[in-house]
Amino acid sequence: MSEIMAKPSVAILGLGIMGSGMAARLLSANFPLAVYNRNRENCVPLEAAGAFVAATPRDAASHAQVVLSMVADDDASRAVWQGETGALNGASPGTILIESSTLSVDWVQKLATKAVGRGCRFLDAPVTGTKPHAASGELLFLVGGPPAVLEEARPVFSSLGRDVIHLGPIGSGAMMKLVNNFLCGVQAASFAEALSLVDAGGLDRAKAISILTGGAPGSGILKRMAERETTNDFTAVFALKWMAKDLAYAIDAASSKGVSLPVACASLSVFEQAMERGYGGEDFAAVIKSAQKQRDT
Ligand code: NAP
Repeated sequence: MSEIMAKPSVAILGLGIMGSGMAARLLSANFPLAVYNRNRENCVPLEAAGAFVAATPRDAASHAQVVLSMVADDDASRAVWQGETGALNGASPGTILIESSTLSVDWVQKLATKAVGRGCRFLDAPVTGTKPHAASGELLFLVGGPPAVLEEARPVFSSLGRDVIHLGPIGSGAMMKLVNNFLCGVQAASFAEALSLVDAGGLDRAKAISILTGGAPGSGILKRMAERETTNDFTAVFALKWMAKDLAYAIDAASSKGVSLPVACASLSVFEQAMERGYGGEDFAAVIKSAQKQRDT
């Protein structure tokens, strides 16, 4: 498998919000596709669209030249790659293994060592973009690992993403993604607190949101959260519990490099309170509702 692959067979492990869209996108681009999800219900629409539904990650990997994982967190990644039924056990030597979930740098590096130890090639390739970008092939891949392997996997990345940025060795993709989401999480937590102050200060919420999103603080994150607030729709597109996870991984990654992130720590505690209040499964914008609840109690 040394030549650049035109349409390699692909396995997607994890059919949540992101993995489902990515799998559907590959199917519509006519990649031969195997899928695995812990809860088999999520496989049904993809099976109807032509995907092979594997009973285990090992089974999925044994059908693929490229295996891409898009699961929740380090524990989920360990569950799909490792063990008797894990994908590492099914992948043939030479297979390209891509970890696209947002994970800790430490686990991604350990996973890469295990993959290479089995004769596979490995890329660390988390993404920016969210549910609609996954479905429309407009993700941005942040890649760590050998550039030659990236080139070989490029047909898959090109179908799923608007761009691929190579950042350095294994772990660089995870580190960049955690820096990215650290900034997103901090903005989200501070916007929630800002709206509490707007209410407590007797200001008109709609006017305040319009001023904040239209002015210097009006980042993509604020605009996205303002839309959720205005439509009162907090259905998860990116779950609040995963934003908390990313802040925690960013804090750990920084700590391992001797850097402290006090603002990330404060933001994480805001998200942890929101999870204690039952908002973990809602969109991260629900941190606004949690801050409001805090003010009301
Ligand atoms: P999601 O909808 O919650 O899906 C999570 C996936 O992980 C599901 O397939 C779930 O399987 C699987 N999973 C969880 N625990 C598992 C375990 N112990 N063993 C096996 N599988 C397990 O999450 P998502 O939004 O698609 O996010 C997936 C990854 O992408 C996360 O790392 C997230 O941080 C990252 N990400 C998300 C977004 C976004 O906007 N949503 C954007 C960029 C990056 P079940 O269906 O069986 O529970």
